[in-house]
Amino acid sequence: MAKCNVCSGKAVIISDKPLCKTHFTESFEKKVLDTVERFNLINRGDRIIVASSGGKDSTTVLYVLKKYFGKVEALAIDEGIPGYRSVTLEDLERFCNANDIPLSTYSYKEEFGFSLSEALRMRKDLSPCHICGVLRRHLLNVKARNFEKIATGHNLDDEAQSIMMNLVKAQIPLLSRLGPSSSAESGFVPRIKPLYLCTEKEVASYAFIMGFGPRFRQCPHSRDSFRAMIRDELNLYEADHRGAKRNLVNNFLALLQRLRTPGTSAELKSCTRCGEPCSRETCRACILVNSIVSSSV
Ligand code: SF4
Repeated sequence: MAKCNVCSGKAVIISDKPLCKTHFTESFEKKVLDTVERFNLINRGDRIIVASSGGKDSTTVLYVLKKYFGKVEALAIDEGIPGYRSVTLEDLERFCNANDIPLSTYSYKEEFGFSLSEALRMRKDLSPCHICGVLRRHLLNVKARNFEKIATGHNLDDEAQSIMMNLVKAQIPLLSRLGPSSSAESGFVPRIKPLYLCTEKEVASYAFIMGFGPRFRQCPHSRDSFRAMIRDELNLYEADHRGAKRNLVNNFLALLQRLRTPGTSAELKSCTRCGEPCSRETCRACILVNSIVSSSV
């Protein structure tokens, strides 16, 4: 039987070093708090809202921020993905009720007039993740306007994937928006990633030990996404080169300041339709919504 490195009790997690439940949860929470401190993610008095899906990552962020920073709220977006989102939102609601966390939920159907599955029927040429990404980002920014920060559940594996996705597509402006916190751009609510240095496996282990809901499931569209392809390739590479994802994220952090050199990002205007910040006359969300709605008439 493997023994905990700290207390010699029964180890349940055997990754970098064997740890028992108690010492693993302690070291995990310390890693999150160290990340918050190292990257100055939260200032005293910040009102934080967590972009929550009911999945393991955002639920972990909700729990740890509530435990150590007291006040936190949850913001959920219901895209309208049958058999998936309704289940994760039920779990989220139960978790928020049990932990006394205010939850606000907004749906594509109510906000834009169509659910994601309806949009996909109207526009067969669009990928679900493209629609989802543009509209989710837009709604989160609009609905979190009264908060200082939006915390997300992105972990180290997610960040490594995002870095590779933007490198492969040479999307330098998007690359410069990655990192543990978004750069301050007027009109956008700053985003923070408290799980930035925690691996997917560590978050999954923590969520499992803490009993955060047994029904974690994957979006049915995730299998065919570009992200899934990059994720699988990175996992294969990591299997042969242990620590590759962490190295990728650390090397990216060393480059990030140069990517964010002032004057390199496009000047922001206000969308002529919705008033949200954008680099053109009309924001991507308004263009997308209009194209979907007009394809149905
Ligand atoms: Fe949206 Fe794609 Fe994620 Fe599913 S996998 S929730 S469609 S971004």
